[in-house]
Amino acid sequence: MADPKGFLTTPRETPQRRPVDIRLKDWREVYEEFSHQQLEQQAGRCMDCGIPFCHQGCPLGNLIPEWNDLVWREDWRGAIERLHATNNFPEFTGTLCPAPCEAACVLGINSDAVSIKQVEIEIIDRAWEEGWVRPEQPAAVTGRTVAVVGSGPAGLAAAQQLTRAGHRVIVYERADRIGGLLRYGIPEFKMEKFRLDRRLEQMRQEGTEFRTGVDVGVDLTVEQLRAEHDAVVLAGGSTMSRDLPITGRELGGIHQAMEYLPPANRVQQGDLPQASISAEGKNVVIIGGGDTGADCLGTAHRQGAASVTQLEIMPTPPNERPENQPWPTYPMLYRVSSAHEEGGRRLFSVNTQQFLGDEDGNLRALQLVEVRKENGKFVPVEGTEQELPCELVLLAMGFVGPERAGMVDELGVELDARGNVARDRSFMTSVDGVFSAGDMGRGQSLIVWAISEGRSAAAGVDRYLMGRDALPAPIGPNDRPLT
Ligand SMILES: Cc1cc2nc3c(=O)[nH]c(=O)nc-3n(C[C@H](O)[C@H](O)[C@H](O)COP(=O)(O)OP(=O)(O)OC[C@H]3O[C@@H](n4cnc5c(N)ncnc54)[C@H](O)[C@@H]3O)c2cc1C
Ligand code: SF4
Repeated sequence: MADPKGFLTTPRETPQRRPVDIRLKDWREVYEEFSHQQLEQQAGRCMDCGIPFCHQGCPLGNLIPEWNDLVWREDWRGAIERLHATNNFPEFTGTLCPAPCEAACVLGINSDAVSIKQVEIEIIDRAWEEGWVRPEQPAAVTGRTVAVVGSGPAGLAAAQQLTRAGHRVIVYERADRIGGLLRYGIPEFKMEKFRLDRRLEQMRQEGTEFRTGVDVGVDLTVEQLRAEHDAVVLAGGSTMSRDLPITGRELGGIHQAMEYLPPANRVQQGDLPQASISAEGKNVVIIGGGDTGADCLGTAHRQGAASVTQLEIMPTPPNERPENQPWPTYPMLYRVSSAHEEGGRRLFSVNTQQFLGDEDGNLRALQLVEVRKENGKFVPVEGTEQELPCELVLLAMGFVGPERAGMVDELGVELDARGNVARDRSFMTSVDGVFSAGDMGRGQSLIVWAISEGRSAAAGVDRYLMGRDALPAPIGPNDRPLT
């Protein structure tokens, strides 16, 4: 156990965010440094519970009390070994995970949970600084070849596991750079891209091959894909955005979040002098209150928006756990992300009725109305209609599943009732030798689940090819969060 009295004597601490007026002038991550000594104290708050519910809360089954103890004892090298045992990419989760482990921390029942996510990011940052993260070569090569389609966290985790198991792994990505949503969805201020590039270099040195600009089903036919590889992992994500087909949708100035965020990311990558869709000087409305909406909010502020309003159809969530979401579930609470802290207005219990245009066919306003829930449906509250002037609307209402035309249809893989790629217990689809991991099979989810599924699918592929149980499989395809 870490410090036996730590949970009694040390209050929870997390790093400060940089001042808003300063961080809005750049795109760098928003958090200040956190000293190693402070972090060791925080790790010392862990009670090393007999039944560590945090394991259950973490979709990767991260061995949290073990690395807390090692950090508290200043054995940082031991800590990264325990962390890497279950998580290929702690720098992605350490910056981006909503930390369901902390919602399940036993200390959180009557006190503040251990700062698990902070301990995680500090362990991996220190490991990179010290040069402890090295390429890991396989003990023996198998002579088998695996194609991974899609290079988001699911595809990368599957690829790294399979390369280390001795297979030749080729990752196909239709975009011009590797990373999936980590590259062109998530903005720099949430995770700087050097973290991704550094990890990709390690993977290259281990032997994973990356081929960008290859749209499987178009540039490489599914027949070629099957013929050239002994197994295939589909990790193409959930890329079909939910739309809002109401009056005025065709007006200029209304875009999907994933049309807006990639060019902003490309500016930061040095590809473009300025973004093709910019919020500069505009009144912006973001429809949708989730992660994607918050990323649009932070991006709009950095581009110099005149005003930003975020709309959410659901009511304002409570500040404390409601009774129907008890510990150790992940509760729906009113959360203030760094982007929310930077400004803008949040409106809850509202719905958009129509978009209003000017004589040139461009957006000038939207009409919204307050709503309340009746018999499970949102109904407008009469007399609450109002116009909200805006020149840019960003739709951030989630994703409805993977694209079917092309690869999915041509492979003939079965879909589940929600339109995602169906898998069996070993993550194999209905087509022999074709597996699927991440949002493509699970539906829109989280990075931690994508990594976890990538690891589990890799275990399924390795068993399929070699008839052995060599790789860990943290989850099954139907495992769900603690909700
Ligand atoms: C804006 C935004 C912000 C988010 N923020 C967070 C966050 O803060 N924390 C969090 O936990 N989760 C977040 N998420 C969710 C998270 O990013 C996803 O759950 C995760 O990236 C899914 O990983 P994946 O590997 O399954 O797919 P993706 O990351 O979507 O990657 C799929 C890749 O497959 C490629 N591809 C698709 N079809 C083909 C084909 N036919 N040929 C070749 N390549 C193909 C695509 O180009 C893409 O690069 C966010 C999502 C969005 C949209
Ligand atoms: S990956 Fe997420 S859930 Fe797991 S330990 Fe890290 S922050 Fe917690």
